[in-house]
Amino acid sequence: MHRPRIKYEHLPVRHGEDLVQIGGSLPGVAARIPDPDGTVWALLTLLDGTRTVDQVVADLVHRHPDEPPDTVYTAIDTLASAGYLENADEPPPEALSEAQRERFGRGRALWRWMDTIPRTTGWHAQLALRQARVTVVGVGGIGSTAALALVQSGVGRLHLVEPDLVELSNLNRQILYTEHDLGRPKVDVAVEVLRRHNGEVEVTGEQATVDGVGMLRRMATRCDVLLMAADTPHEIRSWTNRACLDTGTAWVHGGYHGPRAGVGLFVPGNGPCYDCARTAAAREQLAAPPPTSWPDTSGTSGTHAVNAVSAGIAGHLAGHAVMSLITGIPRLRANRQIGYNLMTLQHSTFYESAEPEPDCPACGPSAA
Ligand SMILES: [Zn+2]
Repeated sequence: MHRPRIKYEHLPVRHGEDLVQIGGSLPGVAARIPDPDGTVWALLTLLDGTRTVDQVVADLVHRHPDEPPDTVYTAIDTLASAGYLENADEPPPEALSEAQRERFGRGRALWRWMDTIPRTTGWHAQLALRQARVTVVGVGGIGSTAALALVQSGVGRLHLVEPDLVELSNLNRQILYTEHDLGRPKVDVAVEVLRRHNGEVEVTGEQATVDGVGMLRRMATRCDVLLMAADTPHEIRSWTNRACLDTGTAWVHGGYHGPRAGVGLFVPGNGPCYDCARTAAAREQLAAPPPTSWPDTSGTSGTHAVNAVSAGIAGHLAGHAVMSLITGIPRLRANRQIGYNLMTLQHSTFYESAEPEPDCPACGPSAA
């Protein structure tokens, strides 16, 4: 880093005269640094991009003669490794046009804000996204929202898979479709609309029904991240899990269950898989008294309880998870499932484990 500068998104604040806060206030990026003699604040003021690292150290030691130069170099390294610094001399990336830099400037600021890793360019996330290939299976409530977020964010290639036609009951949440589209294949409309949002993204689609692991395996080999946004048939997430375990493809699912909007993200070989969660849940169920379900006599068992908010939140969480797997920003822990409760606006982890389940039928020894 030639001329280090504190990232604008991480500008520090001094509290009184002995505490410095950098990186805002959110857990995950903010840090509070004790500063009893004012050295930290003095160092931060020197990191304004006008000096080389050696000049920063020399200036600080000049002002604080008791400070060993090695300590100052280490402090700068620590700030850099936490992602708080950028190189003021960084040239604009040749791979992005001026128009692209204008389009994605606000997104760049957010990526930089969430980034806790030093990068050679502040455009790291954008460059990673434009190289990425994502397949979205299911372009309903969740898939529509996620696909739009991915296209607006500048993912390189997006492939959509969806068998259905646009129906009136879709229009309370599926943001890619309007009353003009009733009766048309969703995938055709989705491709058209998404191309209009960002003509530089290669958007493709196929009107197809997922029929098993083999079909998903073929899809998974052709993308960097697969988003499973379909909820039927019941086994579709386990099929995806097995396909992505076979191909080593990272994958995400988004979903809702009434007022709980959830997301799961998985990186094969990096911890428990989706079916580990089901294995753990089945074991817990066996240990508990047997439940008796209320018989469904309403005749509405097939009706989804969902609106634009619950589907949209799940879709945006899924889009966020996909982009975090592509860019590494933020560094979300994978191989777990999180739900947000619209009744309390709090989240809960509904599956998280450090280790795979030894008797998991998908990734355990019996799977081979
Ligand atoms: Zn497993």
